[in-house]
Amino acid sequence: RPGQRWTMRIATLSGNESIIFLADRTAIDAADRMRSDFVANASHELRTPLAAILGYVETLQDMNGDADRPTRDRFLSIIQREAGRMQQLVIDLLSISRVEADRFRRPTTPVDLAAIVKTTIAQLRDSEHARARDIVANAGDDSQPMLGDGAQLGQLAHNIISNAMKYGRAGTPVTVELVREGRRVRLSVSDEGDGIAPDHLPRLTERFYRVDEARSRSVGGTGLGLAIVKHISERHQGQLDIHSEVGRGTRVSVTFPLTAQS
Ligand code: ADP
Repeated sequence: RPGQRWTMRIATLSGNESIIFLADRTAIDAADRMRSDFVANASHELRTPLAAILGYVETLQDMNGDADRPTRDRFLSIIQREAGRMQQLVIDLLSISRVEADRFRRPTTPVDLAAIVKTTIAQLRDSEHARARDIVANAGDDSQPMLGDGAQLGQLAHNIISNAMKYGRAGTPVTVELVREGRRVRLSVSDEGDGIAPDHLPRLTERFYRVDEARSRSVGGTGLGLAIVKHISERHQGQLDIHSEVGRGTRVSVTFPLTAQS
C-alpha cells in the first residue's frame, strides 16, 4: 500500500538456507511521528508564555526602579498570568502522560460515580469561579457503582464541566446529569454556548487541538482537556459523545458500564 514501510533482515543459516524477516514499520513510524509532534507542540506551548515572562522581567529590570506603580502592577499581573498558564500546562502534561501510562491497566476499585460527580461540582463551586453558580446538578440520589480510578473520573468530570463553564454564555445554565441506562450510566454536561461546527468535532480530542486558539487561551485552556477525557473514558470502557449545534450549545456525554451487582 502507498506509504507503507517495511524493514527486511536476512539471516543466513548453514548451507544455502536463509530466513527473511519482514517487519511492517508503518505503525511504528506513525507512533514516532506522533511522539515527536507532541514534544514539538508542548515545547511551543511552553515557550510562548515563557517568552512573555522573560520579556516583562527584562523590561522591569531595564526600567531600573523607574516604573511607576500602575505600570509595575500591570507587568507583574501579566507575569503572574503567564506563569499560571505554564503551571496549568505542566499539570495537564503530567496528567496526560500518567493517564496514558495507565491505559492498559483496567481499574479494579469499586467507586460511586454519583459521589465523584457531586464532589467535583462542590469543588468547582468552592473555587469561586465566576460561573460556579450557573451549575445545575441533576445527579439524582442513587449511587452509580462502577470499577474505576476515582481521581481520574473526578478529573474527567472536572474537565467536561469546566469546558461548559468556559465556553457557555455567561448567565446561562451548565447542566450536569447522571442517567441510568440499563447496566450503564451516562454522565452528560450541556451548555448554552456558541457551539462547535461539525467539521471540528472529530478533532476535539486531539492533543492541543483548539477550535479558536485565541478564545481558548483567553479562557485559560491548554488544548489538552478533552484528550485527557478521551483517555480516561477509554480506560474505563466509556463511550464519549460530543453533540453540538452552532449558536445553541454543546452536550458532552460519557457512558460507562456499571458493576454487575448494581
Ligand atoms: P481547552 O483546554 O482549550 O479548553 P479542550 O481539549 O478541553 O481544550 O477542548 C478543545 C477545544 O474544544 C477547545 O479549545 C474549544 O475550542 C472546544 N470546546 C471544548 N468544549 C467546548 C464547549 N463546551 N463548547 C464549545 N467549544 C468547546
